[in-house]
Amino acid sequence: MPPAAIAPLYDQHGRPLEYLRLAVTDRCNLRCFYCMPEEGIQYMPKYELLSYEEMLRLTGLLAGLGVRKVRLTGGEPFVRRDLVPFMERLAQLPGLDDISLTTNGVLTAPHVPALARLGVKAVNLSLDTLDRARFFEITRRDELPRVLETFHALLAAGIQVKINAVVMDGRNIDDLVPLAALSRDLPVDVRFIEEMPFNGGSHAAGPASLPWHHLRIRQHLEAHFGALTPLVTPAGATASEYRIAGHRGTVGIIAAYSRTFCGTCNRLRLTAEGGLKTCLYDQGVLDTRALLRGGASDAEIVAALAAAFRNRAANGFEAERQRPLHQLSFESMATIGG
Ligand code: SAM
Ligand code: SF4
Repeated sequence: MPPAAIAPLYDQHGRPLEYLRLAVTDRCNLRCFYCMPEEGIQYMPKYELLSYEEMLRLTGLLAGLGVRKVRLTGGEPFVRRDLVPFMERLAQLPGLDDISLTTNGVLTAPHVPALARLGVKAVNLSLDTLDRARFFEITRRDELPRVLETFHALLAAGIQVKINAVVMDGRNIDDLVPLAALSRDLPVDVRFIEEMPFNGGSHAAGPASLPWHHLRIRQHLEAHFGALTPLVTPAGATASEYRIAGHRGTVGIIAAYSRTFCGTCNRLRLTAEGGLKTCLYDQGVLDTRALLRGGASDAEIVAALAAAFRNRAANGFEAERQRPLHQLSFESMATIGG
């Protein structure tokens, strides 16, 4: 029997709750310099991470509040043991119709058949360059061949691939055109992301140090490919999508730091230790692990989740202003989940 229709939950600014980004671990096998320092971040002890049981309980409760789509992220999701069996159980929760993940692709290729079997329609693959030496400079690991193996395995399995490339001044600007050119013959969406300051203390970053904002990225691509034709995107999308004349796939630009998309934001984030974020730029608004491990009932947890979502900031600038004094660059994207 299909689940009873769920009345969507709206926040105080009229935006519905539809989408959960779930960080299944803070651990990672790469050291992308825009995400964490070379020596890595201070990983949390295992018992501080949510267990799969706890994630299933929270996700089930959020599905009851309207969440339809869940994206697994991290850290690197495939670094956590038994990810696929967890996904199988997630897929059985009533109400979810889209389970996907964001991966760096290093360990992913052997799992592609299982992802296809699970009905995963799209995978976001992080790839900032097609050049092996530059890949090493950016990620501090020589893993480009394995990432490309994943890329081709996903395409062969008929899973839609969205490439995520962070645009970094002085690091991969020469790579933007070759990456976008992948969309000429392949059915991929190549998305360019403004660099955000969440680098775990790798380096300072702020508004003055964002030379590659979304407008400049578009100009750069248009200087090579000609005018980009804007495409209609669903409400809640963070990428502005474009078609390049004659290309089979698409390109997208994500104004992650300029924050142009907050007006339709429909998502929640859960960090690996159970911190609930109602905005990428807030510092965490609810400790779900304390509720789970403190014996809260489902009704109490649902009430706390709903209150947090209703109360969210209007946009990422307001959320940032509401943070206690704490620089964004002390946080790592590996704990936030992207
Ligand atoms: N490890 C997986 C991966 O890299 O795909 C999943 C987690 S990663 C934190 C999720 C996304 O965040 C990746 O696409 C990554 O490129 C992006 N990201 C990480 N740090 C970023 C930053 N400082 N600015 C913009 N995007 C960032
Ligand atoms: Fe790891 Fe992803 Fe962060 Fe790179 S961006 S260090 S792959 S979590």
